[in-house]
Amino acid sequence: MQLLIATTNPGKVREYQQLLNGLPCELMSLVEVGITQEVAETGSTYEENAVLKAREYAALSHLLTLADDSGLEVDALSGRPGVQSARYAPDSPTRIQKLLAEMQHIPAAQRGARFQCVIALARPNGSWETTQGICEGQITTEARGTHGFGFDPVFHVTEYDLTMAELPEEIKNQISHRARAAEKMRPVLERMLRGA
Ligand code: IMP
Repeated sequence: MQLLIATTNPGKVREYQQLLNGLPCELMSLVEVGITQEVAETGSTYEENAVLKAREYAALSHLLTLADDSGLEVDALSGRPGVQSARYAPDSPTRIQKLLAEMQHIPAAQRGARFQCVIALARPNGSWETTQGICEGQITTEARGTHGFGFDPVFHVTEYDLTMAELPEEIKNQISHRARAAEKMRPVLERMLRGA
């Protein structure tokens, strides 16, 4: 069976290929199924946005469809940028600069943050299920590392004492918010693939 990964980001499709490895389905991207339409993230929560995208693309493609929404929540900023993370600034380097500037006077003990991810899986008939994953850490005072994307260079992962961008991809794919949500989605997906 084919599973549509509702993203235009080729890196994300590759990431899900690793995260859902071993499942009896062929992962397809929006490009591969010829969908160019964009679904706006108009929801006010990760769950609303993930469900919105999964249901819309499942209806368009007639395929079982997985979509996610994620963001960075910073304690000292009362949870910002959160669901607005992608819209915090126009591109990743500017987002990082803006975050470090906002955090300039925040002491080490108050730099706690977490990545959150909600994955939604929708059938073409409109029914859906969601799972959630969280990865805890702290915001650094400078960018470090070259792997990953987005806020990875300024997100320090406590259990490895490295930034997300310094961790090898295999490790990020074991501990990230997306990895944790995907791991919870695996049994749901297995059940849906069996047609149950
Ligand atoms: P998306 O909606 O899942 O694409 O994520 C929204 C935004 O959250 C991204 O543009 C990034 O700024 C941030 N973000 C989400 N996941 C990650 C991650 O794994 N690393 C770094 N930044 C992330």
